[in-house]
Amino acid sequence: MDCSAQYQALGISPAVYQLGEDILSHLKPRFEAIDQVAEYNQNKVLFAMQKNRLNATHFAGSSGYGYNDEGRDNLERVYADVFHTEAALVRPQITCGTHALTVALSANLLPGDELLSPVGAPYDTLQEVIGIRPSPCSLAEYGVSYRQAELKADGTFDYDAIAAAINEKTKLITIQRSKGYVARPSYSVKEIGELIAFCKAKKPDVICMVDNCYGEFVDTIEPSDLGADMVVGSLIKNPGGGLAPVGGYICGTKTCVDRCGYRLSAPGLGQEVGANMGLLTSLYQGFFLAPTVVSGAIKGAIFAANLYEKLGFAVVPNSTEQRNDIIQAVTLGTPEGVLAFCKGIQAAAPVDSYVTPEAWDMPGYDDPVVMAAGAFVQGSSIELSADGPIRAPYTVFFQGGLTWYHAKFGILQSLQKLVDAGIVTL
Ligand SMILES: *Cc1c(COP(=O)(O)O)cnc(C)c1O
Repeated sequence: MDCSAQYQALGISPAVYQLGEDILSHLKPRFEAIDQVAEYNQNKVLFAMQKNRLNATHFAGSSGYGYNDEGRDNLERVYADVFHTEAALVRPQITCGTHALTVALSANLLPGDELLSPVGAPYDTLQEVIGIRPSPCSLAEYGVSYRQAELKADGTFDYDAIAAAINEKTKLITIQRSKGYVARPSYSVKEIGELIAFCKAKKPDVICMVDNCYGEFVDTIEPSDLGADMVVGSLIKNPGGGLAPVGGYICGTKTCVDRCGYRLSAPGLGQEVGANMGLLTSLYQGFFLAPTVVSGAIKGAIFAANLYEKLGFAVVPNSTEQRNDIIQAVTLGTPEGVLAFCKGIQAAAPVDSYVTPEAWDMPGYDDPVVMAAGAFVQGSSIELSADGPIRAPYTVFFQGGLTWYHAKFGILQSLQKLVDAGIVTL
């Protein structure tokens, strides 16, 4: 079947559509490989649900203290089985990824301990958590010191610098899998495993934590399969499958996760409190769909990389590189380019498609930032979304797409807006 007439009715010109089809005709083998990863991960999630005898009673809502919430406890067993960890904390009370990481860090670091990032500066929001940028209640205020080993110029690990940074105070090593919004590679699980092995050889009892945001289900293994003591992420990214309306997770050793439970609620209470507020069906079902949703987002990222690289724009990762997360960066080179791209993503959204994104002075950023998102869940970045600071080299970061077809449509719309603005000529 040919959808070209339908695309034309939705504002995509025949030239844009045809370019997209030409690009796609070369991507079949890569898409097949992505489908295989999704199939493997689908089975992994399914078997974990079967093993834990998931049944209708596990979807029941709870309120108040949430004592004896079997559905909540079973969801945590399912997560622990998928990540191959002893324990898991998966809660709607964890408000976002930054909160999950904060719980994991502050539960496992005590005054006098040192935190080490062997992969350069951590994600923006964590800088205040750690106290790199001073903030009330930062780890620094509580007497936790911080050290970081810079990456080598090509973005690989500087093992000499890491070895030199590990000392008698080093208690926890935090490794960010995804590049986030900086110019360095995202790391494969295998690379992270090698880094963990190196750190543990140097200091066997050090806790290795991985910020797993945007990385879940991109590969058939997770960092917890290669030695991570904790993997941490947000449910409005990959593992929520687009259905989770809120939440975060921490999977890891029983010792580490127990402490996270006490930190999240209160010493003595731990994981025994925390009502599910009727959200369990979406958390289970979203986790069930997540491998497929992630595969669609990766296809969209690869499609965009190939399309924009062909048009002469710099793209990271490039058209052929292995994928380690769902983020794609496209350098458009002008403010108008960033705006047009984001307009296209917005125009393609199922929600708020009629609004025009504009750059604004967001708190915490030095330059105006433009963001495009028309999501069912506010701020969800497993849904198709794009954002870019209005500053040289004018790079837009985009990610997500609940289905591959929607990601494809959004990317074609972004190109259409660039054509309409006279920035790209086909
Ligand atoms: C999204 C993200 C976080 C956490 O961000 P929240 O917006 O608080 O969910 C942390 N680290 C990385 C690498 C991320 O991509």
